Amino acid sequence: MRGLPVKFEVEKGRILVPVGKPCPYGCRYCYTRGGEVGPARTRAGTILEQFEEFAKTHVFNTIQFGYDSDPFAFPERGVMMLERLAQLGRHLNFSTKSCIEGTVLDALAKIRSNLASEITFTALVSLSCWHSAEKVEPRTPTPEQRMQTVSNLMRIGIPAFIAVQPFLPHIEMAEYEHLIGEALCAGCAGFVLGPLYADKEERFVSFLPKGALSKIPGEETIISWSAHHPVWTRYEDPRLRQVAIFAQSCGGPVYWSSADAIDSYIAA
Ligand code: SF4
Repeated sequence: MRGLPVKFEVEKGRILVPVGKPCPYGCRYCYTRGGEVGPARTRAGTILEQFEEFAKTHVFNTIQFGYDSDPFAFPERGVMMLERLAQLGRHLNFSTKSCIEGTVLDALAKIRSNLASEITFTALVSLSCWHSAEKVEPRTPTPEQRMQTVSNLMRIGIPAFIAVQPFLPHIEMAEYEHLIGEALCAGCAGFVLGPLYADKEERFVSFLPKGALSKIPGEETIISWSAHHPVWTRYEDPRLRQVAIFAQSCGGPVYWSSADAIDSYIAA
């Protein structure tokens, strides 16, 4: 699947923009490595030029940056691309699991301060577990470091939602409750709860204990948020609803897609 062209598509009023460089983090469930959701490797300038052309002829409200990799695993590239994207006058959002601090945080604060007052700038910080992160996300910044990112972003006026995704069937509820408590202490803006995906070869779920998916309802679906539309099986654990109720009872807003979370902030 490598060698796919960069593709853009408006979905729910937003456009996803790729980083275009393979992610060095090691999440075991990562669905980007096969290149099905976008090109594995593309020059940043090429992505930006093609996106700027696309933006001239399409109507959309929001740019979501970083669905194919982590923008701040390569801080200079991530900051440079966000600076260019910020010039398009649309609401801006990025996804990350990086520890954002120091000069990168300063650069984001500068982007924030240069945006027009009606433009929102939000972030999604992803976690799929807490105590199990060493095994599930072995080369990824720790959950504690990601909470530091949340606090840092909130401090410079970039609301950070916690993307609890993928929701994993072998992780105990207590671990998810702990994650939610930590995220609320860090001041997060709310939670986006998401399913687990599996491709036909089951590469994204091969790390799960045997039989972990046997009781989870799965449905083959065309992935609408990717302009490349892979067909995967979507596993939605019924415990997600319990996590939603728990988060809400602790005062954390819950959303079922990042688009909904961003839109709620724009509308507020
Ligand atoms: S941070 Fe995202 S892109 Fe990087 S390995 Fe983890 S899931 Fe994949």
